[in-house]
Amino acid sequence: MSNPLVSGMPTVSIESVPTYEREQVASGLRRLLEPLGGMAAFVRPGERVLLKPNLLMAKPPEAAVTTHPEVVRAVILEVQRAGAIPLVGDSPGVGSYKKIAEKCGIAAVCAETGAELVEFREALTVKGSGIFRQIELARPYLEADRIINLPKLKTHEMMTMTCAVKNLFGSVVGTAKAGWHLKAGADRELFARMLLEIYLIRQPELTIVDAIVAMEGDGPGSGDPRQTGLLLAGDNAVAVDLIVAQLAGIPRRLLFVEQAARKLNLPGSDRTGIRTVGLPLERAACLAPFRLPPLSDVQFGLPRFLKNRLRRHLTTRPQVIPEKCVLCGICRDACPPVAITMERGRLRFDYRLCIRCFCCRELCPHGALRVEEGVILRLVNRLSKINDKPR
Ligand code: SF4
Ligand code: SF4
Repeated sequence: MSNPLVSGMPTVSIESVPTYEREQVASGLRRLLEPLGGMAAFVRPGERVLLKPNLLMAKPPEAAVTTHPEVVRAVILEVQRAGAIPLVGDSPGVGSYKKIAEKCGIAAVCAETGAELVEFREALTVKGSGIFRQIELARPYLEADRIINLPKLKTHEMMTMTCAVKNLFGSVVGTAKAGWHLKAGADRELFARMLLEIYLIRQPELTIVDAIVAMEGDGPGSGDPRQTGLLLAGDNAVAVDLIVAQLAGIPRRLLFVEQAARKLNLPGSDRTGIRTVGLPLERAACLAPFRLPPLSDVQFGLPRFLKNRLRRHLTTRPQVIPEKCVLCGICRDACPPVAITMERGRLRFDYRLCIRCFCCRELCPHGALRVEEGVILRLVNRLSKINDKPR
């Protein structure tokens, strides 16, 4: 297992893979892993290797919401070639895991390759590594011999970007995610810290990012596919996120996970301490920075009583688009503080309860929720667009 490249300085490999054509993805993955020592540097024969894709909701692969099935297939085949046993597992916040896996094409890939599809149902309680005393994580996630993290690169309304570290939140079983949103979700710094604690409890041995077609705009559920033509891989998820964000032109002041990782001085959080291999960064960088979701709040260091008074103007809030809403109730059932009700055939939001986590928007399968910006926030968002230059 020793690999001089990946056991010292965090190393991120980058490879150009223009489409999801099966052979292109398979050969691209081999080129991607080659400078890291190949798949054999990360898994041993006979080991049970858990692949953790992003299975947010039941959308087809072309919607760019979930990890593409051809990326999952290529990784399964490489794991099998290394003599190990691949399992594919996740736990969506709402909805049937089986239906989501079928719709996004991953169930078919598992059936064709013989990989086991595992739903995270049972949780084990583990000690937190910092400010959270204990965290419940999925048993298959904790008990796997190796973990390969398979995130999709997407923008995220609350955390700006979801990729390597954020994808591990899927190891929190089903509805327990809502509880964590309630505990930490109103404060993005705290939420970022919670994500890092999950990461530190059980770090994946390898992260492989599906950024062949990423998502920009109103991610992670309602954004627009963005052709980026890249696969990235590394043994350090924090470092992978940092390089991905750099390539996507996302300003560091909006990367809450990166900021929290820097405060903890985690390996991979310092750009100068990361080596990149494969495609040179200047050739991999996106021509235009990703279109980001609007900031969901502004703080200005105001005293709490004033923040409370001005909350409507300082934050965004979800609003229903009545002509698109089919009143399925998914958003209401997913809302951590129960701020959504259905009354007389209409959705109603209690904005005093709403913590602005945007789980409702993330999970609405019909794109029927929009974000309304407060007046002061709108002004700040406009100014920051003018001032933000891609790094
Ligand atoms: S907003 Fe979306 S998730 Fe909520 S009830 Fe309407 S269609 Fe369903
Ligand atoms: S209404 Fe939406 S944004 Fe507000 S707390 Fe509920 S799920 Fe989160």
